[in-house]
Amino acid sequence: MLIPKTHPRAISLYIREKLVHGFREGIVVEEGLLAHGRGEMFDYLIGEKTTKTSRKAIKAAARALLAAKLPVISVNGNFAALCAKEIVELSKITGAKIEVNLFYASEKRKKIIAQILRKNGANEILGIDPKFAKRIPKLDSARRVVDKRGIFSADVVLVPLEDGDRTIALKKFGKDVITFDLNPMSRTAQTADITIVDNVIRGMKILIDVCKKLSKEDLVEKSKFDNKKNLKKSIGIIRKNLRKMANA
Ligand code: ATP
Ligand code: MG
Repeated sequence: MLIPKTHPRAISLYIREKLVHGFREGIVVEEGLLAHGRGEMFDYLIGEKTTKTSRKAIKAAARALLAAKLPVISVNGNFAALCAKEIVELSKITGAKIEVNLFYASEKRKKIIAQILRKNGANEILGIDPKFAKRIPKLDSARRVVDKRGIFSADVVLVPLEDGDRTIALKKFGKDVITFDLNPMSRTAQTADITIVDNVIRGMKILIDVCKKLSKEDLVEKSKFDNKKNLKKSIGIIRKNLRKMANA
């Protein structure tokens, strides 16, 4: 039987195809495919949809990005393979800089990712020119290199699908961290200031829409967002879904 195109399972197959394509193009590494598998599992547990709880985090993220002095979007292989167009759109709406920042660094892969982003309309891409390389303290060698004009100087950093060590190092370095992470229990999810527990492929589109709709007055008002409380709600959704599945 054919699965309708809008069915969550069909969408998850489409996402897999995008990643495999990204892998063949040299954007995604093997480890990225495995990390995606972990994400898929959590997506299944949250119901393969954007929850109300995630929408709250998206609104807080939009406000933080729009209010930032120097927001930066950190791009890795999986994020580029899934959301190249949306990364560029979000950067244009919020004024955020785009920085390619890879866990498994390779100059060749950085260049391919930059090319894809340019194809989607990006003008300036940081993280490529070694002349501007700076180091984040308290993180081991290759993983700590960032761009002086980007993450190094940023006040707010969007780092989706990030590893916990890096997120902790960014926090210690004084950054406000926003992340997309389908696992509300990961170290990144627990360490970030704003965690959007949603698939980047769904959440980025909503984040862009919310940024477009937020008014100046919305930004003046102080945010009441509580990440820990929001994460507990996401864990509660998983627990409820598991109970439902167990009783079905
Ligand atoms: P941590 O290091 O933060 O404890 P981890 O070691 O479990 O996390 P990593 O491989 O370091 O996992 O980071 C990848 C994270 O990205 C995982 O938590 C995974 O659930 C999440 N993830 C994978 N694909 C997506 C996606 N498409 N959208 C949102 N999150 C995703
Ligand atoms: Mg990790």
